Amino acid sequence: MDEIKNELFYQQKNGYDVINPKDRAALEDYAADYMTFLDAARTEREAVREAVALAEAAGFRPLTEDHPGIQPGEKVYYVNRGKSLLLAVGGKRPLADGAVIAAAHIDSPRLDLKQIPLYEDSELAYLRTHYYGGIKKYQWTAIPLELHGVVSLRSGETVDVVIGRDADDPQFVITDLLPHLAADQMGKTGSKLIEGEKLCLLAGSVPYAGEGSDRVKLAVMSLLNDRYGIVEEDFISAELEVVPAFPVRELGIDRSLIGGYGQDDRVCAYAELAAILETEAPECTAVCILADKEEIGSEGVTGMRSAAFERFMERLIGGTCSVQACFSKSLCISADVTAALDPLYAEVSEKQNSAKINYGVGLCKFTGARGKSGASDASAELVGYIRRLCAENGVLWQMCELGKVDQGGGGTVAMFMAQRDIDTIDAGVPVLSMHAPFETTSKLDCYMTYKCVKAAYDA
Ligand code: MN
Ligand code: MN
Repeated sequence: MDEIKNELFYQQKNGYDVINPKDRAALEDYAADYMTFLDAARTEREAVREAVALAEAAGFRPLTEDHPGIQPGEKVYYVNRGKSLLLAVGGKRPLADGAVIAAAHIDSPRLDLKQIPLYEDSELAYLRTHYYGGIKKYQWTAIPLELHGVVSLRSGETVDVVIGRDADDPQFVITDLLPHLAADQMGKTGSKLIEGEKLCLLAGSVPYAGEGSDRVKLAVMSLLNDRYGIVEEDFISAELEVVPAFPVRELGIDRSLIGGYGQDDRVCAYAELAAILETEAPECTAVCILADKEEIGSEGVTGMRSAAFERFMERLIGGTCSVQACFSKSLCISADVTAALDPLYAEVSEKQNSAKINYGVGLCKFTGARGKSGASDASAELVGYIRRLCAENGVLWQMCELGKVDQGGGGTVAMFMAQRDIDTIDAGVPVLSMHAPFETTSKLDCYMTYKCVKAAYDA
């Protein structure tokens, strides 16, 4: 009977029981490089900057407006308004035969400063925020925070702001109520535990010397003016993002896990990037997308719904065929994280179809909510192709679905790629505590996601 079972049943195995020695060693080096990237890329703009530096070092050059079309083996990149990045390596075959695209996003849930953020109350200065993406607000109190972003001055000059990154730099905190006085608060439901308007950064406490009102606010503004040359009105034209200050670390006694902020979806963004940086003259042109604005619906000029992607492809194609003809023959891996089965909260998952830590890259045929609403639902043929691709290239993979039926749901950029007539499937790293200020992934799954994208580029 065991023999027949072996033949007929689908059996999933822990990746560490089947990984070959070469990959076992390589995943540690890969994880170390990824952790360095993640630590330095705390915002979408920083992710672009770090990625461009790596791409330049690997021989990629900026795509010019009048580019005549990509040549076999040619390596180009395009930065869209500093917040999203597109890279390509020219294939041997013309783009009329389609491109192999991988699309991840580099924006992550965070708190943005409001446009008029600074105020003083009870001789303490605060910065008001408006959260970005889906967060559990209570997770953002009483943890060390940093401020990263840009301020566009009245002069037209743009100033980069980073407060809290250097070891001797001050950081910020959003205070929470002590348990001794939290009886009313603890009676509230989770979504009301911390109200959005209470997510205000403590920004200073020393009053400006002299008499009058708002002296602490004035002292804080004065220090900001000394450091960045900004006045209060300049906040109006600023994008200042509040992000967790935790360093990226190995987790677990066995060091098998990675803890850090923004792994959704910089973990897949890095996987794609690492894959395309090592791609030389593929069969079909390889395209790597690091998109912005996924966490708020892929809107905006730097989001995946933007025609900036068509414009990029048009320049690669260089008039050899229509963008639409290229899309209809293309393949897209929507590389975004998925929920890992958390044994502490197993009740929200259906075990048989959940992604498990250390079982490899998670393939999702569909995302969405309720009756697959909002999913692009990859075809059986496409899932079959990816399954074969993984098997033939030693990629450890698993099939997964985000949570129990009717438990909730989520989306990725997949549907915006499929709407373009591009065959698209979701594939990414399973994450524990997704969207928390400190997210957890496994080194093995990170590495296998890179291998999956690399196999697609090399096919
Ligand atoms: Mn994501
Ligand atoms: Mn997300």
